[in-house]
Amino acid sequence: MGSKTQQPIEMARKKPEYEFFGPPGAALISFVLPPLVYAITFACNDLSGCPAPSLLHPKNLDLDVLKREVGWPQDGWRGLFSLEATGWTLAFYLFNAILYRILPATETEGTVLRSGGRLKYRFNAFSTTMFCIVAAAAGTITQGAEFPLWTYITDNYVQILTANTIIAYALATFVYIRSFSVKPGNPENRELAAGGVTGNMIYDWYIGRELNPRITLPLIGEIDIKEWMELRPGMLGYILLNGAFIAKQYRSYGYVTDSIVFVALVQTFYVLDGQYMEPAIMTTMDITTDGFGFMLSFGDLVWVPFIYTQQTRYLATHPQTLGPWGLAGVGAALIIGFAIFRLSNSQKNAFRTNPNDPKLAHLQYMPTKAGTRLLISGWWGIARHINYFGDWLQAWPYSLPTGLAGYTILSAGSAAVDGAARMLDGRQVIPGEAKGWGIIFTYFYVLYFAVLLIHRDRRDDEKCAKKYGEDWEKYKKTVRWRIIPYIY
Ligand code: NDP
Repeated sequence: MGSKTQQPIEMARKKPEYEFFGPPGAALISFVLPPLVYAITFACNDLSGCPAPSLLHPKNLDLDVLKREVGWPQDGWRGLFSLEATGWTLAFYLFNAILYRILPATETEGTVLRSGGRLKYRFNAFSTTMFCIVAAAAGTITQGAEFPLWTYITDNYVQILTANTIIAYALATFVYIRSFSVKPGNPENRELAAGGVTGNMIYDWYIGRELNPRITLPLIGEIDIKEWMELRPGMLGYILLNGAFIAKQYRSYGYVTDSIVFVALVQTFYVLDGQYMEPAIMTTMDITTDGFGFMLSFGDLVWVPFIYTQQTRYLATHPQTLGPWGLAGVGAALIIGFAIFRLSNSQKNAFRTNPNDPKLAHLQYMPTKAGTRLLISGWWGIARHINYFGDWLQAWPYSLPTGLAGYTILSAGSAAVDGAARMLDGRQVIPGEAKGWGIIFTYFYVLYFAVLLIHRDRRDDEKCAKKYGEDWEKYKKTVRWRIIPYIY
């Protein structure tokens, strides 16, 4: 048992195997992506436009004008942080931990670890989110769009972003330092992730040294940090941010459009579906292979909730009406994407859980020297990551409702413009010269997600090539396409 746990350290001594372009790539991602989230937040705003008008004339850029246009805090950099918003954000995490402990849960064992042991997991992310949705709905029914949860989120958006960013850095650092106490043969089944022990500090901190870091909190008990962060605070935050933007649209305009409701409902459904299927996360690469480092802490706590909600954030200020045909179009794209995503993931999960399940008897598979079988028909016979294709298709209906995005905000008292969206305070929102430029923000997710999935496919390909050797090459000849049949 001990020698197996020691194995990655020995591997690392031989030759570090880097992903993400090694330490420079890890450093770049870790220190460029957080400022990028702020850049997106300020550049597409509810004060001047999306993008802010000055950004369309970079040659004449005046920093003071730009600061006014983007709502840069009066007290400068310090204004990005607020003790109060950080306190509330921490309270949100604590509340989540309390619900994790007190709501009924299913307790299951994870997949077999290198040490041969298995870890116990407690699953109730779905009921936690449902509890919070019902509470937020009750608040909205009684207090409308002025419900303090909604107004607090939109009024302190940047400071809440900062709080989550700080938590992501702190958490990555905490698990990194703590990973050095993992000893070979420990009875708690603590292990280091094979890819996270290169010996390069910044890289290991980013990619994650420990495979399943856990913490025991007074009264709450043991929490698997990686599984918990992946499905809880960020995911719930995602739903709540969308709710806050719908409320904001209502406060600004006195109505709510079909597009923002569509995007928010669909994203909520996506989160709830993932949480309902919580046990399925056990067989994903995140849980079985990756350590927990900054990549996941930032991804789970900042990137997902703050970047994935850019469309509703946009629509809160620039309302769009889809109408029945528009809704039917985006709805159809979504259903097709979702069906591919869910059915393919479930098929593999069922096959990995019980390959002899009679319900799967119609599927063809390939035996391998590694022991596990590889499906070569059904969903997994169409493309090696057909599940990624379904996932990517689902990204489009999030962005399409924002149309050919981009807007300029005219101050109250400006001459009335035909076709402008008029806010209750008299300001008007028109495409103006920003027309088309807003897609940088509202379609960013589609582009980014394609890059993520292509990269992830390559990582998984490397992992499987190592695990299956020549069987994998044989499999790749049988199932030729990576993600999109006949295209890629
Ligand atoms: P997958 O669920 O695609 O799992 C890949 C693993 O499945 C392989 O390593 C291999 O593991 C096994 N496998 C591969 N081919 C076969 C086959 N033919 N038959 C049986 N088993 C096979 O990986 P992910 O964890 O990357 O993705 C899970 C889901 O999460 C996807 O739908 C993805 O789109 C989604 N996702 C979403 C993200 C988001 O930000 N929204 C981010 C990343 C993923 P082994 O053989 O060792 O069992």
